[in-house]
Amino acid sequence: MLGFFSKPRIRGGVHAEEHKMLTASQAIVNNFPLPKKLYIPLQQHVGKPAEPLIRVGDEVLKGQLLAYSQGMISAPVHAPSSGIILDVNDYPAPHPSALPIRMIVLETDGKDEWINAPGIDDPFRLSPEDISLRVGAAGIVGLGGATFPTAVKLNMGRENRIDTLIINGAECEPYLSCDDRQMQERSEQIIDGVRLMLHGMEADHAVVAIEDNKPQAYLAMQAAAKPYPQIKVIQIPTRYPMGWDRQLIRYVTGREVPVGCRSSEVGVTIHNVGTAYATHKAIRQGRPLVSRVITVSGGAVGRPMNVEVPLGTLISELFDFCQVNAEQTARIVMGGPMMGDSLPHTGVPTVKATSGILALTAAELKSTDEQPCIRCASCVSVCPAGLRPLDMANNIRVNQLDAAVDIGLKDCISCGCCSYICPSNIPLVQYFKYASGEVAARQQAQHKSEQTKRLMDARNARLERIAQQQREEEQARIAAKLERERLKAEQEATV
Ligand code: SF4
Ligand code: SF4
Repeated sequence: MLGFFSKPRIRGGVHAEEHKMLTASQAIVNNFPLPKKLYIPLQQHVGKPAEPLIRVGDEVLKGQLLAYSQGMISAPVHAPSSGIILDVNDYPAPHPSALPIRMIVLETDGKDEWINAPGIDDPFRLSPEDISLRVGAAGIVGLGGATFPTAVKLNMGRENRIDTLIINGAECEPYLSCDDRQMQERSEQIIDGVRLMLHGMEADHAVVAIEDNKPQAYLAMQAAAKPYPQIKVIQIPTRYPMGWDRQLIRYVTGREVPVGCRSSEVGVTIHNVGTAYATHKAIRQGRPLVSRVITVSGGAVGRPMNVEVPLGTLISELFDFCQVNAEQTARIVMGGPMMGDSLPHTGVPTVKATSGILALTAAELKSTDEQPCIRCASCVSVCPAGLRPLDMANNIRVNQLDAAVDIGLKDCISCGCCSYICPSNIPLVQYFKYASGEVAARQQAQHKSEQTKRLMDARNARLERIAQQQREEEQARIAAKLERERLKAEQEATV
């Protein structure tokens, strides 16, 4: 249970320019034209990619299972519309590299015809395990961007006796307002999803935490939660990255998640408001996750908006609909400007993790005119993880990656606060992303060479065993031969 405690000091963070009013003041657009083709990646979640069970030429209905989840941590993929399967092949990923990944290509038939999947009128008579199973079968993952399979988190909640479910309505990234609009327009469905999650986790109560720059969302959610005393809706200070799990848990419950531990170890699980809405739809209406609300914003966007789009929609189509000026676009970002990924082009699809797509002008980007460090320590004071970014960057510059790891590189959450605040325009977070990738690659290479050595040792041991066995057989054969000759000689001597 939540006890009374004085609110802890917020560690680090910045007040970034919000730019949210470009989209937060308008209703979610629900008439996005159905694309002719949808590109549906098999991996839109943390864990193993889904395995296709359809073939090229198959006709499918909206919501039909296209690929099933593999293993404990994975999620299935469903058809975002009705149509015919055109291809299962490699296409550019929505990633800074745009390297190809496996996707199912669906040619839509324009009917957008749903499968017949009845919902449940009284889901609270279902067992908690059944709730998790249905959430898992609907392909729901963390829609705040983490994309961890939601059913796995519900199960962990049950197994670890979680007492508090936090619903993350912080949406602290600048420009993004899809959660804000959903809380304003879908508050009752979200609160229903929260109740279903509590039931699925067998948890006592939930806290919906909303940054205080979203007063309408707060009021709507408070009204929707009023009949349910087990759900509390609170306002939290507006400060990036308030939505970071550890910061939120600390602020809401006063509990500290130790480094290297999971939030479940302190009795807390966090889900995003969009995930709660998806849970409501999956259980009440039998609808799997096939679309999501995306914020399309930035200075180069003619019609900034929050729009519900089928998963697999190409960003180029989204940009056409929102009248993005390609010439003014200096950078395309998937997600928010602080933690999002820059994309090389618009020929990549939207996925479950896509909370926003930004088309930013040169004037909206931070200057790249890098100057020497003036040791002002601003980067240290804003780091929410309590790190010393300038020291880590100095180590990385001279390729001392182990030294950077020793002073906390692995605890960096790539929030970008240090880069944002740095008066010398040093791209600190880029150093940390690069170094983290290098460290992971080295560890993988080391793991591989250890595995190769283990396999070689096992092979040598097996060959030695075979050789030893052959030597023993040869010795036995010679001994048998000598024995036969001795017996023969004895017989001849007797005769
Ligand atoms: S904020 Fe920039 S200039 Fe200031 S200490 Fe950090 S790296 Fe150096
Ligand atoms: S990017 Fe890493 S080092 Fe920089 S402020 Fe965020 S957590 Fe700290």
